Amino acid sequence: MKITVIGSGYVGLVTGACFGHLGNQVICVDNDLKKIAKLKKGTMPFYEPGLEEMVKLNMKEGRLKFSASIPEAVRESECIFIAVSTPPKENGEADLTAIENVAIQIAKSMNSYRLIIEKSTVPVKTGIWVEHTIKIHKRKNCLFDVASNPEFLREGQAISDFLNPDRIVIGVESKRALNLLKRLYAPIRAPIVVTDIKSAELIKHASNSYLAMKISFINAISRICELTGADISKVAEGLGLDKRIGKQFLQAGIGYGGFCFPKDLDAFIAIANQCGYDFRLLKEVRNINQDQVTFFIKKIEQALWNIKDKTIGILGLSFKPETDDIRFTPALTIIKSLLEEGAKIKAFDPKAMDKFKLLVPDITYCRNPNEVAKGADCLVIVTDWLEFKSLDFVKLKHIMKQSVIIDGRNIYDRQALESLGFRYFGVGR
Ligand code: NAD
Repeated sequence: MKITVIGSGYVGLVTGACFGHLGNQVICVDNDLKKIAKLKKGTMPFYEPGLEEMVKLNMKEGRLKFSASIPEAVRESECIFIAVSTPPKENGEADLTAIENVAIQIAKSMNSYRLIIEKSTVPVKTGIWVEHTIKIHKRKNCLFDVASNPEFLREGQAISDFLNPDRIVIGVESKRALNLLKRLYAPIRAPIVVTDIKSAELIKHASNSYLAMKISFINAISRICELTGADISKVAEGLGLDKRIGKQFLQAGIGYGGFCFPKDLDAFIAIANQCGYDFRLLKEVRNINQDQVTFFIKKIEQALWNIKDKTIGILGLSFKPETDDIRFTPALTIIKSLLEEGAKIKAFDPKAMDKFKLLVPDITYCRNPNEVAKGADCLVIVTDWLEFKSLDFVKLKHIMKQSVIIDGRNIYDRQALESLGFRYFGVGR
């Protein structure tokens, strides 16, 4: 099938590459000319395991190309995915100007039937606006359908998530749209949930909010563990083995970050409010998440007494492992707060340092965890990259100024570290 994906970011590029991999002819479009120029040369705009190889192979075999021109791409494709950013406005609502802008350009470029598919995460009822916008701007007699096909991939395992999803959600209002999407997804084995567009839009916001709620729930329980001397790891294990609850998203830590949960939760609260429902439950999920970072910063202060002039080593800057994405990463809040208190920061991340340097240029970036630890008063684990799990603590003990580990992701064994002479601070245990 001939497909266009507008927006070549984490979602758009993976979508384009995977549909190419499944044998379709794909054009990935973006209005960032530099990004498109780089992609044409096979240079990835971000790190995602396996993506570079997949993009290059599909380009070579003629199934994937890049363009900065929406009209050109729309003329060549029957199915148009919109995967542009939907960033938060200051009041928490989703900023949908890019969606509108793209819808207008698609409408003006269509010369025959097109299926326009929302891939971006959008508030419920966005489909109505997209349809309305296209109707106003399209040529007379040009037929089209709008569909919602929300994406559930996780950065760091995006390709495998895209090709082996738990489910595919298709929100449609016509048989023609349904048949096209079913044909497109035929090679992927997963249950398909067919519904109306509004329900599909709601499924995405509801899913992300539920997962965020699970994280805030376990973080709240971790606070009670700290107050009572219980162990959150064991509590989570005991909870998670209940099939009705499930093990995933029950790791206590510094809270969630990234481009999805914080903004989608805010957008869901905002749209619910506009529809007349005060989503108090989600407001509390957000509060608990924010408290968790504040509480963690206090933990660092309590471990070191005064922060001023202390050297603090930070391991991990991305919002989670296996990605260089630093959008809404807790590392930023933590580092900014420590800098305000007069700390000297040394940091290392396997993939995210180049992006982080643009936000915070004035800290010391190191080549590896040992360099971070050298002369540091404490090591703070912010992201649970696999390589941080097997550090040489005997060596670290010798090169650190103070033997203090503050483990925001509970990746170490307290007893093992204490037996080596470290002071260890985890979350909820
Ligand atoms: P991103 O910022 O990585 O990519 C968005 C791309 O859209 C950028 O390259 C940007 O230049 C481009 N763009 C913006 N306006 C444009 C326009 N008018 N015309 C053409 N291109 C334009 O964002 P992302 O992480 O890929 O997220 C995209 C959408 O998918 C968001 O709604 C997000 O919530 C949703 N989503 C993201 C993830 C994730 O893990 N990142 C997962 C599921 C859903």
